[in-house]
Amino acid sequence: MTVWQQARLVERLRETDSAVTLVFEPEEWSGHLAGQHADIRLTADDGYQAVRSYSLAGPVEEGRVVFTVQRVLGGEVSTYLCDDLPVGAYVEVRGPVGGWFVWRGTDTRPVMLLAGGSGIVPLQAMVRQRRALGSRVPFRLLYSVRTPEDVIYADELARPEGGVDVAVRYTREAPPGARRAPRRLGLVDLNTHGWPAEFEPMCFVCGPNGFVEAAANMLITLGHDRHRIKTERFG
Ligand SMILES: Cc1cc2nc3c(=O)[nH]c(=O)nc-3n(C[C@H](O)[C@H](O)[C@H](O)COP(=O)(O)OP(=O)(O)OC[C@H]3O[C@@H](n4cnc5c(N)ncnc54)[C@H](O)[C@@H]3O)c2cc1C
Repeated sequence: MTVWQQARLVERLRETDSAVTLVFEPEEWSGHLAGQHADIRLTADDGYQAVRSYSLAGPVEEGRVVFTVQRVLGGEVSTYLCDDLPVGAYVEVRGPVGGWFVWRGTDTRPVMLLAGGSGIVPLQAMVRQRRALGSRVPFRLLYSVRTPEDVIYADELARPEGGVDVAVRYTREAPPGARRAPRRLGLVDLNTHGWPAEFEPMCFVCGPNGFVEAAANMLITLGHDRHRIKTERFG
Protein backbone atom coordinates (compact mmCIF):
# COMPACT_ATOMS: atom_id res chain seq x y z
CA MET A 1 0.00 0.00 0.00
CA THR A 2 1.50 3.28 -1.06
CA VAL A 3 1.27 6.40 1.03
CA TRP A 4 1.01 10.09 0.22
CA GLN A 5 4.30 11.91 0.08
CA GLN A 6 5.47 15.39 -0.79
CA ALA A 7 6.94 15.95 -4.25
CA ARG A 8 8.63 19.13 -5.41
CA LEU A 9 8.15 20.43 -8.95
CA VAL A 10 11.63 20.81 -10.41
CA GLU A 11 10.93 21.39 -14.10
CA ARG A 12 8.14 22.40 -16.46
CA LEU A 13 8.37 21.64 -20.18
CA ARG A 14 5.84 22.94 -22.68
CA GLU A 15 4.63 20.15 -24.97
CA THR A 16 1.78 21.94 -26.80
CA ASP A 17 -0.44 24.98 -26.14
CA SER A 18 -2.53 22.79 -23.86
CA ALA A 19 -0.12 20.20 -22.47
CA VAL A 20 2.84 20.46 -20.16
CA THR A 21 5.34 17.94 -18.84
CA LEU A 22 5.97 18.27 -15.12
CA VAL A 23 9.01 16.76 -13.46
CA PHE A 24 8.75 16.12 -9.72
CA GLU A 25 11.19 15.00 -7.08
CA PRO A 26 9.35 12.91 -4.50
CA GLU A 27 10.85 12.18 -1.10
CA GLU A 28 11.22 8.52 -1.96
CA TRP A 29 10.16 6.58 -5.05
CA SER A 30 10.37 2.81 -5.24
CA GLY A 31 10.25 2.73 -9.06
CA HIS A 32 7.41 1.95 -11.44
CA LEU A 33 6.46 0.11 -14.61
CA ALA A 34 5.64 1.61 -17.99
CA GLY A 35 1.87 2.16 -18.09
CA GLN A 36 1.34 2.71 -14.37
CA HIS A 37 -0.03 5.95 -12.99
CA ALA A 38 0.13 7.92 -9.77
CA ASP A 39 -2.34 10.09 -7.90
CA ILE A 40 -1.69 13.78 -7.35
CA ARG A 41 -3.38 15.51 -4.41
CA LEU A 42 -3.70 19.28 -4.14
CA THR A 43 -4.70 20.98 -0.90
CA ALA A 44 -6.03 24.55 -0.84
CA ASP A 45 -5.37 26.99 2.00
CA ASP A 46 -8.87 26.31 3.38
CA GLY A 47 -8.16 22.54 3.49
CA TYR A 48 -10.17 21.65 0.36
CA GLN A 49 -8.49 18.72 -1.44
CA ALA A 50 -8.67 17.42 -5.00
CA VAL A 51 -7.14 14.15 -6.21
CA ARG A 52 -6.59 13.13 -9.85
CA SER A 53 -4.68 10.29 -11.52
CA TYR A 54 -1.87 10.94 -13.99
CA SER A 55 0.14 8.42 -15.97
CA LEU A 56 3.84 8.16 -15.31
CA ALA A 57 5.45 9.38 -18.50
CA GLY A 58 8.83 7.74 -18.29
CA PRO A 59 11.23 5.49 -16.43
CA VAL A 60 12.52 6.69 -13.08
CA GLU A 61 15.49 8.97 -13.54
CA GLU A 62 17.46 9.92 -10.48
CA GLY A 63 14.43 9.63 -8.26
CA ARG A 64 12.26 11.87 -10.42
CA VAL A 65 8.74 11.20 -11.62
CA VAL A 66 7.43 12.73 -14.81
CA PHE A 67 3.83 13.50 -15.77
CA THR A 68 2.35 15.09 -18.88
CA VAL A 69 -0.88 16.92 -18.17
CA GLN A 70 -3.34 18.13 -20.79
CA ARG A 71 -5.44 21.13 -19.80
CA VAL A 72 -9.15 20.24 -19.71
CA LEU A 73 -11.46 23.20 -20.29
CA GLY A 74 -13.02 24.08 -16.94
CA GLY A 75 -10.99 21.35 -15.26
CA GLU A 76 -10.09 21.94 -11.64
CA VAL A 77 -6.74 20.17 -11.30
CA SER A 78 -5.40 20.09 -14.87
CA THR A 79 -5.70 23.87 -15.31
CA TYR A 80 -3.87 24.47 -12.04
CA LEU A 81 -1.07 22.04 -12.91
CA CYS A 82 -0.75 23.36 -16.47
CA ASP A 83 -0.97 27.09 -15.75
CA ASP A 84 -0.25 27.90 -12.13
CA LEU A 85 1.91 25.44 -10.21
CA PRO A 86 5.33 27.12 -9.98
CA VAL A 87 8.67 25.36 -10.08
CA GLY A 88 9.73 24.73 -6.50
CA ALA A 89 6.17 24.19 -5.25
CA TYR A 90 5.05 20.95 -3.61
CA VAL A 91 2.13 18.63 -4.32
CA GLU A 92 1.38 15.26 -2.77
CA VAL A 93 1.80 12.09 -4.84
CA ARG A 94 0.86 8.49 -4.20
CA GLY A 95 1.95 5.61 -6.34
CA PRO A 96 2.73 3.81 -8.46
CA VAL A 97 -0.80 2.53 -9.09
CA GLY A 98 -2.01 -0.22 -11.43
CA GLY A 99 -0.58 -3.57 -12.45
CA TRP A 100 -2.71 -4.48 -15.45
CA PHE A 101 -2.08 -1.76 -18.02
CA VAL A 102 1.69 -2.28 -18.06
CA TRP A 103 4.34 -3.39 -20.50
CA ARG A 104 7.16 -5.13 -18.65
CA GLY A 105 9.54 -5.75 -21.51
CA THR A 106 9.71 -9.48 -20.84
CA ASP A 107 6.91 -10.32 -23.31
CA THR A 108 8.28 -10.76 -26.83
CA ARG A 109 4.94 -10.38 -28.64
CA PRO A 110 4.60 -7.43 -31.02
CA VAL A 111 2.97 -4.44 -29.38
CA MET A 112 0.17 -2.29 -30.79
CA LEU A 113 -0.35 1.06 -29.09
CA LEU A 114 -3.52 3.05 -29.80
CA ALA A 115 -3.57 6.54 -28.32
CA GLY A 116 -6.28 9.18 -28.30
CA GLY A 117 -5.18 12.69 -27.22
CA SER A 118 -3.41 12.66 -23.84
CA GLY A 119 -3.76 8.86 -23.90
CA ILE A 120 -0.35 8.98 -25.57
CA VAL A 121 1.31 9.46 -22.14
CA PRO A 122 1.44 5.87 -20.77
CA LEU A 123 1.98 4.50 -24.27
CA GLN A 124 4.99 6.71 -24.87
CA ALA A 125 6.22 5.53 -21.46
CA MET A 126 6.20 2.02 -22.95
CA VAL A 127 8.15 3.23 -26.01
CA ARG A 128 10.65 4.89 -23.66
CA GLN A 129 10.90 1.75 -21.57
CA ARG A 130 11.56 -0.29 -24.73
CA ARG A 131 14.39 2.10 -25.56
CA ALA A 132 15.79 2.00 -22.01
CA LEU A 133 15.85 -1.80 -22.10
CA GLY A 134 17.38 -1.96 -25.58
CA SER A 135 14.42 -4.19 -26.48
CA ARG A 136 13.85 -5.25 -30.09
CA VAL A 137 10.17 -6.10 -29.66
CA PRO A 138 8.37 -4.57 -32.68
CA PHE A 139 6.05 -1.70 -31.71
CA ARG A 140 3.40 0.11 -33.71
CA LEU A 141 1.93 3.31 -32.37
CA LEU A 142 -1.22 4.79 -33.89
CA TYR A 143 -1.96 8.20 -32.39
CA SER A 144 -5.24 10.00 -32.97
CA VAL A 145 -5.11 13.70 -32.25
CA ARG A 146 -7.13 16.80 -33.18
CA THR A 147 -4.59 18.90 -35.08
CA PRO A 148 -0.83 18.90 -35.76
CA GLU A 149 -0.43 21.50 -32.99
CA ASP A 150 -1.90 19.06 -30.48
CA VAL A 151 0.71 16.35 -30.99
CA ILE A 152 2.36 15.68 -27.62
CA TYR A 153 6.03 14.52 -27.75
CA ALA A 154 6.12 15.68 -31.40
CA ASP A 155 9.93 15.86 -31.60
CA GLU A 156 10.42 12.45 -30.05
CA LEU A 157 7.79 10.85 -32.29
CA ALA A 158 9.32 12.41 -35.39
CA ARG A 159 12.73 10.85 -34.64
CA PRO A 160 12.82 7.45 -36.27
CA GLU A 161 13.53 4.66 -33.81
CA GLY A 162 14.34 1.18 -35.10
CA GLY A 163 11.44 -1.19 -34.61
CA VAL A 164 8.88 1.44 -33.63
CA ASP A 165 6.45 2.51 -36.38
CA VAL A 166 4.56 5.69 -35.60
CA ALA A 167 1.49 6.95 -37.45
CA VAL A 168 -0.35 10.10 -36.40
CA ARG A 169 -3.94 10.58 -37.57
CA TYR A 170 -5.87 13.84 -37.26
CA THR A 171 -9.51 14.23 -36.33
CA ARG A 172 -10.10 18.01 -36.87
CA GLU A 173 -7.34 19.46 -39.02
CA ALA A 174 -4.62 17.66 -41.00
CA PRO A 175 -1.21 19.11 -41.97
CA PRO A 176 -1.01 20.84 -45.37
CA GLY A 177 -0.79 18.31 -48.19
CA ALA A 178 -2.14 15.39 -46.15
CA ARG A 179 -4.08 12.95 -48.31
CA ARG A 180 -6.30 11.70 -45.52
CA ALA A 181 -9.16 14.04 -44.63
CA PRO A 182 -9.42 14.71 -40.88
CA ARG A 183 -11.71 12.21 -39.20
CA ARG A 184 -11.84 9.80 -36.32
CA LEU A 185 -9.80 6.60 -36.44
CA GLY A 186 -11.48 3.90 -38.46
CA LEU A 187 -10.98 0.29 -39.44
CA VAL A 188 -8.92 1.38 -42.46
CA ASP A 189 -6.44 3.14 -40.17
CA LEU A 190 -6.11 0.10 -37.93
CA ASN A 191 -5.77 -2.18 -40.92
CA THR A 192 -3.08 0.00 -42.47
CA HIS A 193 -1.05 0.80 -39.35
CA GLY A 194 -1.89 -1.95 -36.90
CA TRP A 195 -0.62 -5.50 -36.64
CA PRO A 196 -2.78 -8.19 -38.21
CA ALA A 197 -4.64 -10.25 -35.61
CA GLU A 198 -2.72 -13.38 -36.75
CA PHE A 199 0.47 -11.83 -35.30
CA GLU A 200 -1.23 -11.98 -31.88
CA PRO A 201 0.05 -8.58 -30.72
CA MET A 202 -0.48 -7.18 -27.24
CA CYS A 203 -2.76 -4.18 -27.74
CA PHE A 204 -2.78 -1.19 -25.39
CA VAL A 205 -5.52 1.41 -25.90
CA CYS A 206 -5.60 4.66 -23.95
CA GLY A 207 -7.53 7.92 -24.14
CA PRO A 208 -10.96 9.38 -23.42
CA ASN A 209 -13.84 6.95 -22.82
CA GLY A 210 -15.34 7.24 -26.30
CA PHE A 211 -12.01 6.73 -28.04
CA VAL A 212 -11.14 3.67 -25.96
CA GLU A 213 -14.56 2.11 -26.51
CA ALA A 214 -14.43 2.66 -30.28
CA ALA A 215 -10.82 1.55 -30.73
CA ALA A 216 -11.22 -1.61 -28.63
CA ASN A 217 -14.36 -2.55 -30.57
CA MET A 218 -12.51 -2.09 -33.85
CA LEU A 219 -9.70 -4.36 -32.67
CA ILE A 220 -12.25 -7.03 -31.80
CA THR A 221 -13.94 -6.59 -35.19
CA LEU A 222 -10.54 -7.15 -36.81
CA GLY A 223 -10.20 -10.45 -34.96
CA HIS A 224 -7.94 -9.54 -32.06
CA ASP A 225 -8.43 -11.66 -28.95
CA ARG A 226 -10.06 -9.52 -26.23
CA HIS A 227 -7.65 -11.01 -23.68
CA ARG A 228 -4.81 -9.32 -25.50
CA ILE A 229 -6.48 -5.90 -25.50
CA LYS A 230 -5.67 -3.77 -22.45
CA THR A 231 -7.46 -0.46 -22.00
CA GLU A 232 -7.01 2.61 -19.82
CA ARG A 233 -9.75 5.25 -19.75
CA PHE A 234 -9.00 8.85 -18.88
CA GLY A 235 -12.66 9.91 -18.77
C1 LIG B 1 -5.60 6.13 -14.80
C2 LIG B 1 -5.70 7.54 -15.32
C3 LIG B 1 -4.57 8.12 -15.86
C4 LIG B 1 -4.65 9.44 -16.36
N1 LIG B 1 -3.54 9.98 -16.92
C5 LIG B 1 -3.60 11.24 -17.42
C6 LIG B 1 -2.44 11.82 -18.05
O1 LIG B 1 -1.37 11.21 -18.14
N2 LIG B 1 -2.56 13.08 -18.53
C7 LIG B 1 -3.74 13.79 -18.45
O2 LIG B 1 -3.77 14.94 -18.91
N3 LIG B 1 -4.84 13.26 -17.87
C8 LIG B 1 -4.80 12.01 -17.35
N4 LIG B 1 -5.89 11.48 -16.74
C9 LIG B 1 -7.11 12.33 -16.54
C10 LIG B 1 -6.98 13.12 -15.22
O3 LIG B 1 -7.04 12.21 -14.13
C11 LIG B 1 -8.10 14.13 -15.01
O4 LIG B 1 -9.35 13.49 -15.16
C12 LIG B 1 -8.03 15.31 -15.96
O5 LIG B 1 -6.81 16.00 -15.80
C13 LIG B 1 -9.19 16.29 -15.69
O6 LIG B 1 -9.14 16.68 -14.34
P1 LIG B 1 -9.59 18.16 -13.92
O7 LIG B 1 -9.57 18.23 -12.43
O8 LIG B 1 -8.81 19.19 -14.66
O9 LIG B 1 -11.05 18.23 -14.48
P2 LIG B 1 -12.40 18.12 -13.60
O10 LIG B 1 -12.51 19.30 -12.72
O11 LIG B 1 -12.45 16.79 -12.98
O12 LIG B 1 -13.44 18.26 -14.77
C14 LIG B 1 -13.45 17.36 -15.88
C15 LIG B 1 -14.51 17.85 -16.85
O13 LIG B 1 -15.76 17.80 -16.25
C16 LIG B 1 -16.33 19.07 -16.30
N5 LIG B 1 -17.03 19.25 -15.01
C17 LIG B 1 -16.45 19.25 -13.79
N6 LIG B 1 -17.38 19.45 -12.86
C18 LIG B 1 -18.56 19.58 -13.52
C19 LIG B 1 -19.91 19.80 -13.13
N7 LIG B 1 -20.24 19.94 -11.82
N8 LIG B 1 -20.86 19.88 -14.07
C20 LIG B 1 -20.53 19.74 -15.37
N9 LIG B 1 -19.29 19.53 -15.81
C21 LIG B 1 -18.34 19.46 -14.89
C22 LIG B 1 -15.23 20.08 -16.48
O14 LIG B 1 -15.67 21.23 -17.13
C23 LIG B 1 -14.29 19.29 -17.32
O15 LIG B 1 -14.65 19.39 -18.67
C24 LIG B 1 -5.86 10.16 -16.28
C25 LIG B 1 -7.00 9.55 -15.71
C26 LIG B 1 -6.92 8.27 -15.24
C27 LIG B 1 -8.15 7.64 -14.65
